[in-house]
Amino acid sequence: MTQPHENDTSTSGDATPDAPRDLGRHVHPLPSSGREAGPIRGLLAGMRTTARTMTKKTSVQQYPDVKPDLPPRSRGVIALLEENCTACMLCARECPDWCLYIDSHKETVPSETPGGRDRQRNVVDRFAIDFSLCMYCGICIEVCPFDALFWSPEFEYATNDIRDLLQEKDELGAWMRTVPAPPDLDDGAPEAAEVAAASKPARVQRRRPTQ
Ligand code: SF4
Ligand code: SF4
Repeated sequence: MTQPHENDTSTSGDATPDAPRDLGRHVHPLPSSGREAGPIRGLLAGMRTTARTMTKKTSVQQYPDVKPDLPPRSRGVIALLEENCTACMLCARECPDWCLYIDSHKETVPSETPGGRDRQRNVVDRFAIDFSLCMYCGICIEVCPFDALFWSPEFEYATNDIRDLLQEKDELGAWMRTVPAPPDLDDGAPEAAEVAAASKPARVQRRRPTQ
C-alpha cells in the first residue's frame, strides 16, 4: 500500500485515477522577506566586491590603446624569407591542414667556371598560406631545411572577409621585418655553422699543368 506524499493535500476519498493533478502543489513560494531583499542583497554584495578590489593593481590590458607585451617568440603570423625557399615542398607535405600552396618552375643556372656543368634550381612562383585554416602548429617552420619560414609575434591581421586570410608570398615576405632577432648564443657555445662557413677564405681554383 502506497503512502500519500507529505505535500499531497488531497484526501484519499476525493482522489480518483482520472482526476486532473495539481502540478503546482510542490512549488514552495519564497518567503516575502527573501523576495524583497534579493536585489538589495545582490547590489550590496557587488558594491562590497568593488570596494575590495578597487585599490588592487589591475591585470586588465587596455588593448588596443595599450599594446600587449608579448614574448618575442609568440606565434602571431608566419613570415617567409623567399630567397631561402627552394620550393622543396617539405612544409606543404607536412602541413596537417593542407593550407600551404606552392608553385614553382625550374631554371637553369649557367656554370661560373669554364667547362663546368650548368645547374638547375627551383624558382618559387607562388607561396601562400591560408591562415583561416592554419592551426599555428609550427610544423612547417620546424621542418623547413633552409630557414625560409619564421614566427612573427604580429597578430593584428583580423579581417571581415575570410578570403583576405589567404596571404601570398609578398604579404608573407613583408612580415619578415617584424621577426625578432634570434637570442644570443650561450657563453662558450661553438660558432654557428653559417658564420664559420662565411668567414672561411675563398677557395683558390687550381690550374692544371699545361703539357
Ligand atoms: S603552422 Fe601548421 S597548420 Fe599552419 S601552415 Fe604551418 S604546418 Fe600548416
Ligand atoms: S619554405 Fe622551406 S620547406 Fe617550404 S618549400 Fe620553401 S624551402 Fe621547402
